[in-house]
Amino acid sequence: MERKEVIISPEKIKEQYRYMDLVKDLLGQRMQSVHYAYVETFGCQQNEADSERIMGMLVSMGYTKTTDPTNADIIIVNTCAVREHAELRALSITGQFKHLKEKKRSLIIGVCGCMVSQEHRKEDIKNKYPYINFLFGTSMNYRLPEILYTALIKQKRAYYLDCGDQGNIAEGLPVERESSFKAWVSVMYGCNNFCTYCVVPYVRGRERSRDKGEILSEINDLAKKGYKEITLLGQNVNSYGKDLPEEYDFADLLSDICKIEGDFTVRFMTSHPKDASKKLIDTMAKNDKIAKAFHLPLQSGSDRILKEMNRHYDKKSYLELVSYMRERMPDIAITTDIIVGFPGETEEDFEETLEMLKTVEYDNIYSFIYSKRKGTKASVMECQIPEKVKKERFARMIETQNAISNGKNNIYLDTVQRVLVEGRSKTNPDKLTGRNEKNRLVHFSGPDSLIGCWANIKITEAETFSLSGELIK
Ligand code: SAH
Ligand code: SF4
Repeated sequence: MERKEVIISPEKIKEQYRYMDLVKDLLGQRMQSVHYAYVETFGCQQNEADSERIMGMLVSMGYTKTTDPTNADIIIVNTCAVREHAELRALSITGQFKHLKEKKRSLIIGVCGCMVSQEHRKEDIKNKYPYINFLFGTSMNYRLPEILYTALIKQKRAYYLDCGDQGNIAEGLPVERESSFKAWVSVMYGCNNFCTYCVVPYVRGRERSRDKGEILSEINDLAKKGYKEITLLGQNVNSYGKDLPEEYDFADLLSDICKIEGDFTVRFMTSHPKDASKKLIDTMAKNDKIAKAFHLPLQSGSDRILKEMNRHYDKKSYLELVSYMRERMPDIAITTDIIVGFPGETEEDFEETLEMLKTVEYDNIYSFIYSKRKGTKASVMECQIPEKVKKERFARMIETQNAISNGKNNIYLDTVQRVLVEGRSKTNPDKLTGRNEKNRLVHFSGPDSLIGCWANIKITEAETFSLSGELIK
């Protein structure tokens, strides 16, 4: 792959800034003094990061961010395509916005993200949601100013979906971050792995790494602003650098990030087990800034299913990786993703997955019922598993893991945990919540002034999904 081809030229980015000014002028000519923008986000952290750029552009165009869609002048729905459930939710929300458009004819509604990059979904929206102004695929995000300007002056529906296989990288766009102390930083985009169940490579294009200089300067800036947690994002962060002209990999990037001054923690996701290297693990072990938490998606504990999934590792090599991590960092927290009910999964295959949960003793798992994705190899495999069997296995999986997570939480009793305080608990607003280095939720009483700061908490209670404790002054 020729790198120059994937990076959007500075001229093209400048052109979008000109469109931002044009939209701003158009809004300025209206009677209204404030124009509200609302972005609804589905799916993974990459989508959340994309939405922050989308909001950044909207704010630069003169809009004011709102969390209430009912008073919005523009609504963007950023969709996910990883499972059907996420698509149906995005379509349902999009459907609910129809009545807002009926009340306010000038309301602009755009739909973007992974779902719309699929031809059949584009057709669905085109035919069933005539009030949507425009659709744009993930590689078109940077052109939002132009897309919006065109919609404002032409009032004609438009589709900007030419993702192509390759995808692109757009630097220098404004960003409106959700948090003033936690930040997402994409280090790479796209995926080359083509796991047979997964739609991501089709909707996000091929792997491409950002220049290290861009990443380091973004993090430098965040550290100066006092950000406390930086999460590096990529579909497979271990592929970082493979397409760069110089010899520079993800471990090298982490080492350079850790040299940046500041009281911040670094996290990253996701690591594909086939590419997670000893060098990466050694780099983690050596650097205090890197949280000792590793998300290592297993997907299945059966070697036969892993092969069918095109994952390129087996149980043995996975367990060797886990052993090496624990040898270098004995208290590391390990989490994973599991798919239940992949086509052809037998009871024996499933039991092997349960065995792996017991062997590895994950701190937490994210388990998903297999969802058939149009265009993927697995969607046409024979022996699709009946819904009833998938649900029954899913429940057994959760039960097995809950017992493990519970046991794992008990080890924190009577210890002091340093947590990054995130805000008030949604379930109990009397309490603050934060996360420790291992990403465990911790509830405690304390003043709002602690939000966004580190706090030391003595753990007094351990539940399945969280810990509770007392603030140590
Ligand atoms: N790039 C990341 C994750 C991408 S999607 C990785 O490789 O780990 C996040 C998770 O969604 C995956 O790890 C997988 O467990 C799950 N997933 C992806 N496609 C799925 C499908 N068709 N059905 C159910 N779960 C799926
Ligand atoms: Fe999907 Fe596999 Fe790529 Fe992850 S590595 S995004 S699961 S294809």
